[in-house]
Amino acid sequence: MNTQPKTVTTLDPYDLYDVRSLLSDEERMVQDTVARFTDERVLPVIGECFDQGRFPHELVPEIANLGLLGPTLPTEYGGAGMNAVSYGLICQELERGDSGIRSFVSVQSSLCMYPIYAYGSAEQKREWLPDMAQGKVIGCFGLTEPHGGSDPANMKTHAKKDGGDWVINGAKMWITNGNLARIAIVWAQTEDGIQGFIVPTDTPGFTAQEIQRKFSLRASVTSALFLDNVRVPDSARLPNVRGLKGPLGCLTQARYGITWGPIGAAIACMRDAVEYAKTRILFDRPIAATQAVQLKLADMARRITQAQLMSLQLGRLKDAGRMQPTQVSLAKWNNVRMAIDIAREARDILGGAGITTEYSPIRHMLNLESVITYEGTETVHQLVVGREVTGINAF
Ligand SMILES: Cc1cc2nc3c(=O)[nH]c(=O)nc-3n(C[C@H](O)[C@H](O)[C@H](O)COP(=O)(O)OP(=O)(O)OC[C@H]3O[C@@H](n4cnc5c(N)ncnc54)[C@H](O)[C@@H]3O)c2cc1C
Repeated sequence: MNTQPKTVTTLDPYDLYDVRSLLSDEERMVQDTVARFTDERVLPVIGECFDQGRFPHELVPEIANLGLLGPTLPTEYGGAGMNAVSYGLICQELERGDSGIRSFVSVQSSLCMYPIYAYGSAEQKREWLPDMAQGKVIGCFGLTEPHGGSDPANMKTHAKKDGGDWVINGAKMWITNGNLARIAIVWAQTEDGIQGFIVPTDTPGFTAQEIQRKFSLRASVTSALFLDNVRVPDSARLPNVRGLKGPLGCLTQARYGITWGPIGAAIACMRDAVEYAKTRILFDRPIAATQAVQLKLADMARRITQAQLMSLQLGRLKDAGRMQPTQVSLAKWNNVRMAIDIAREARDILGGAGITTEYSPIRHMLNLESVITYEGTETVHQLVVGREVTGINAF
């Protein structure tokens, strides 16, 4: 007699709480569209791109056609007027493909188009945003400097007024899209505090050097920028913001999207682990039938569910105009940590097969080492939450 209980599953293992039912029809449509793009266009090529250390540039026009560049900006600037939850879902589905693709979209949308939209003049918005939405102009965001990214107030790059122009000197490090970009949003110290400049990358004195030998985000371009007496007119300065709140405002936008992205990476890893565990027969049974493996898979489902609920609530707060940077820190910390742990567990469940890019976990695991560091390291976000809880700044 077979004493094994019949296996019954009625829930979606990758959405155990049916979080999708909390989305509007439009949000679901956005998710489905990007999911299809990831399945059909990203997944078939991404393993090879990662192996070769190549950003799949050929996908940019399609990404633009789908309205994924600056999707929350108004249509008059080429955006799609989407809400924050839709933007989050875009990040989630793209990162289910690869963190590098999501990083490209995050940088273009939240770190380059957003500051031009939020802090730029009417002329700057008209000049750059529609072309950026169409992917004709790619941007990069230069905040981090070689001597330490966690303390951006200690910025050495400076801009000096010279007649009607500004002359910028300094260096930026770890800049996503650096060698792809036609414009760089460069943050520099001035006599009036930190200010942002839109610097065309063909300006004399500007150089971008691609960073080689990366083991993480290999399907993304990361560069060092050098500014040697780079001269730009005053019309290149973002007129409507001064001080660190300029770049930090952009980072809050990007970090919000990053809370969603790793959910996609985690789902991809869990899916590979579940499929593999069901078919890998050891000791006469699939490893999925062992309690040890089920515990690991159940824990993945638990943590993905927590992250889904967290990001959705964060998105609803953002759409209501009530999202606070500390809340973003909590979700970035939680969700990236969740995804990196799941990627490592999934890699382990795959055994030796898990060490090649034939399966997604090791690629996601390596990518997430960047995601946990950039846009505020895990420690920085923990300290932000700690400061909120205690009222004491421990930086
Ligand atoms: C792939 C990639 C892409 C990136 N893209 C961009 C980009 O497009 N634009 C951009 O401007 N930047 C970008 N960055 C830079 C990124 O934001 C920085 O790497 C990050 O802010 C950390 O800075 P750092 O690397 O200089 O490390 P550091 O700031 O030198 O930190 C080193 C260590 O010290 C810890 N630490 C820092 N402060 C404290 C403290 N008070 N107490 C305890 N521990 C502390 C950190 O958590 C970390 O573990 C990118 C980075 C990577 C890896």
